[in-house]
Amino acid sequence: MTVTRSVPKAPRPDTREIRALALYRTRGAEIVRTGPHTYEVPSCSGSRSYAVDYEAESCDCPDFTMPRRGREVGEPCKHVYAVGIHRAKRRGATARRLAALEEMYRHELMDEAERCELMDEIRGLRRRLGL
Ligand SMILES: [Zn+2]
Repeated sequence: MTVTRSVPKAPRPDTREIRALALYRTRGAEIVRTGPHTYEVPSCSGSRSYAVDYEAESCDCPDFTMPRRGREVGEPCKHVYAVGIHRAKRRGATARRLAALEEMYRHELMDEAERCELMDEIRGLRRRLGL
């Protein structure tokens, strides 16, 4: 007797996220912050760039603005995701720097002026991280 098993289809990998990661790896260094929530993100070829508003999760690239089959208009494109990766990495670097400065503040001998300067920098980093 033959048993036919129905194998559930594997979910399709989110190719947009994978493409965003590839874009970040090749062009991440070219992402430029242009405002509190806005960024210029290069295209994969680097021949042009797109304006991303990370808060609104919008982009002015054709993938975001043009209706296409199998995709909702206004669904975040790879440029929006690439900014997400960029922000997460920057945040990680800021958090590591803050930890190092706090460690220095606790354990290193320094004069009052240096201590004040260091505390200012620590406060600035904490603010950037929303702490
Ligand atoms: Zn886009």
